[in-house]
Amino acid sequence: MNQALRDARVKTTCPYCGVGCGVVATRHANGEVSVEGDPDHPANLGRLCSKGTALGDTVGLDGRLLEPHVDGAPATWDEALSLIASRFAQTVAEHGPDSVALYVSGQILTEDYYVANKWLKGFVGTANIDTNSRLCMASSVAGHKRAFGTDTVPGTYDDLDLADLVVLTGSNLAWCHPVLFQRLLATRQARAGTERPLTLVVIDPRRTVTAEAADIHLPIRAETDIALFGGLLKHLAEADVFDHAYVAAHVSGLEDALSAVAPLDVDTVATTTGVDTALVHRFYRLFAATQKSVTVYSQGVNQSAHGVDKVNQIINVHLATGRIGRPGMGPFSITGQPNAMGGREVGGLANQLAAHLEITNPAHRAVVAQQWGAPRLAEKPGLKAVDLFDAVADGRIKAIWIMATNPVVSLPDADQVKAALAACPFVVVSDVEAATDTVRYAHVALPALAWGEKDGTVTNSERRISRQRAFLPAPGAARADWWQIAEVAKRMGHGKAFDYAGPHAILAEYARLTGAAAALGPIDLDLTDFIDIPRERYDRLEPVQWPAPASGPSGGRFFANGGFFTPDRKARMVAVSAPASRSDATTFTLNTGRVRDQWHTMTRTGRSAKLSAHMAEPFVELHPDDATRLGLTAADLAEVESAHGRAVLRVVVQDRQRPGAAFAPMHWTGETAAAGRVNALVTPKTDPISGQPASKSARVTVRRFEAAVHGFALTRRRPVTQGLPYFAVGKTDTGYRLEFADAATPTDPVAFAARLFGVDQATVGLDWVTLIDARSGRARIAARLNGRIEGIVYLDRAPVAVARAFAVQLFDDPASSKLDALLAGRAGSGDHDPGRTVCACLGVGVNAITGAITRGHATVAGVGAATGAGTHCGSCRSEIARLIDDATAPQSV
Ligand code: SF4
Repeated sequence: MNQALRDARVKTTCPYCGVGCGVVATRHANGEVSVEGDPDHPANLGRLCSKGTALGDTVGLDGRLLEPHVDGAPATWDEALSLIASRFAQTVAEHGPDSVALYVSGQILTEDYYVANKWLKGFVGTANIDTNSRLCMASSVAGHKRAFGTDTVPGTYDDLDLADLVVLTGSNLAWCHPVLFQRLLATRQARAGTERPLTLVVIDPRRTVTAEAADIHLPIRAETDIALFGGLLKHLAEADVFDHAYVAAHVSGLEDALSAVAPLDVDTVATTTGVDTALVHRFYRLFAATQKSVTVYSQGVNQSAHGVDKVNQIINVHLATGRIGRPGMGPFSITGQPNAMGGREVGGLANQLAAHLEITNPAHRAVVAQQWGAPRLAEKPGLKAVDLFDAVADGRIKAIWIMATNPVVSLPDADQVKAALAACPFVVVSDVEAATDTVRYAHVALPALAWGEKDGTVTNSERRISRQRAFLPAPGAARADWWQIAEVAKRMGHGKAFDYAGPHAILAEYARLTGAAAALGPIDLDLTDFIDIPRERYDRLEPVQWPAPASGPSGGRFFANGGFFTPDRKARMVAVSAPASRSDATTFTLNTGRVRDQWHTMTRTGRSAKLSAHMAEPFVELHPDDATRLGLTAADLAEVESAHGRAVLRVVVQDRQRPGAAFAPMHWTGETAAAGRVNALVTPKTDPISGQPASKSARVTVRRFEAAVHGFALTRRRPVTQGLPYFAVGKTDTGYRLEFADAATPTDPVAFAARLFGVDQATVGLDWVTLIDARSGRARIAARLNGRIEGIVYLDRAPVAVARAFAVQLFDDPASSKLDALLAGRAGSGDHDPGRTVCACLGVGVNAITGAITRGHATVAGVGAATGAGTHCGSCRSEIARLIDDATAPQSV
């Protein structure tokens, strides 16, 4: 057991989003783990969001993959690794190096990434290694490289505090990067009424919770942001707020960029974006008048067939005004994943080498080959994620190793990915979970370390490197991802190059490579402070922002005084034309995204009952006019279909949606829903430069999903859902909750319930309680064994009207004997129904909040004082504000 494990409280880093919050994890004697925010970590200063707060709920070993498996049977590490080495070697020998691939993840640590890249690019001889970060921020990487010559994030989080104007575009920061958002709101509140107020502008087709908190919301049509920022560039030129001295000294391409936006007067922009002319004017005037402005962008910009152009149009605006690299100024890409940045740094994308070196540059290749002692360094870029799986599908790639990601759920055209893996001759999957949609297709499944067991580093969106430290022992035979790769490399004859004493030795080697890269010319990514870093220093490493040179201070901003990483050290403004907008009255533009309390494909957050309570089903959000036109009301089920796939989703009707647009979250999988994999609907179309998929603009049709019976169930065992055309399963504290619908009414409701609960109907001692009304089609059926409720199911012809949170509360309470109340499905007098969870951190339901409002608490702070809601991470405060608005709005008569 290492030093970290002997300590009761271990400082580590949250494994979810790119904010990269510091966490203090405590392992208690009873095996439970509690977490709190690290007050000393500069990214969060002690704050955590609901997901970070619930990390302790996610570290159990239920469902973990704990030993290697070959063809579904347990195997030793030596058997599994030797098989991988021989199959990869044989495939390369027969079909060449480009017939094999690695597909990795922003979840793995920088040291894992580094070793994976080194093996495949340097020793196997192909650059066919790509990462799910391709789906997240590849367009930002490409935009940075076009403008700056390298993938450099110029600013720091402090700029959000120092700015007078923060523009959020394509970013639901409130839900996707909550700690950063709360920091922004706190700054705005602190400066309200002062001489320097902070103004928040949100550009998003949806009125998200982020948009609701904005001073100005521009609800643009999807994919019209290039026109909006192009018009802004034109306006800034006309208002004469360019920084001519900065441009003359440090920027090229201004004239071409300006002529490309010449047609974009305000009226044209308003027509293109669908935003009121006066609102466009207001935004442009505000931006022109506010020197300290930061533009934050995220997946809404990146996940587009024009993502790189969008990024460059944003950067153009900042370059022309010289608002870059100075306190409170700059374009700022916020990454989705915890280590997307680390992957970018060590060449996790198929078109890059480690240390920001270029695969297409012979001098760069020579440095890498020499440092690694690489016998056959790849000489050309490999296949990007979507192309890579196309190559699996058409047989060009015959062996693939997938690490820490679930492409059968997360890639666009996900059904095609599933078919590709099913047909691939050799699939290896390293994962923490025994059963994911992707592990199902593994010939070899390797048990990986989960958060809490891993040791290494991650880099957040502001270039800050932090340690993830182990505070739990490795369970079963689980081993680090870097170790798995290194062992295969050794079995392929490369023992010397992969003989690492630990993750510190990998960082030391990577740091040496950044030093060698400096011999080629000025570099941004300087980690020479970590050359030969000993284990003890690595263990104690505090969060540090790069550059981290061997001498001189680390961190800071880039480009205030130019110094770009192009041959002439000037930045490039890129001439960007707005693409023609499409409209089609028969289909909807599907925007995919995230919900507040889930992370990616829910393999971790789905383990937490608290996090599953906020939104328990996959859903499609529609504007009320569209819902009416389609004959849909809230809680109906809808079939959503594209040219690529289909999903069945619960209908949410919200005027925050633009007419003609639909929104669906991407978290649900084949394990958690019958047809909830919304990426099956998404087009595999990608940006031509970055290869990033256009995940926010699939064309879909929406129609009612006809069901004969709707149901809600609570079960102790995982419910048996086979054959149900619609279901969504989630965790409660002591079992599972299930929403479902079926095409036919069960002929024998008790037999149906027994199958759902996973029990034998005739089990001795099993006591069945039934309330069945054949005329209305309503039924409630419960099974008890030795006084404990094994399961309860509610059936109806319409969506079941049961107070979910109340039922879950009774079901989870071991002392509860209120079967009658549970069968009734709603609270009687003397019972408390918390209602749908609003505050996940403190478990506060909507009924407690509306009760507080009714009692006269008409502010978010007041509701917080009365109920606790919103007083921890703050992510639910916008929702509380909306409940207050709804309750206090004048009622029409
Ligand atoms: Fe984790 Fe939340 Fe911080 Fe993101 S904002 S790193 S999810 S605690």
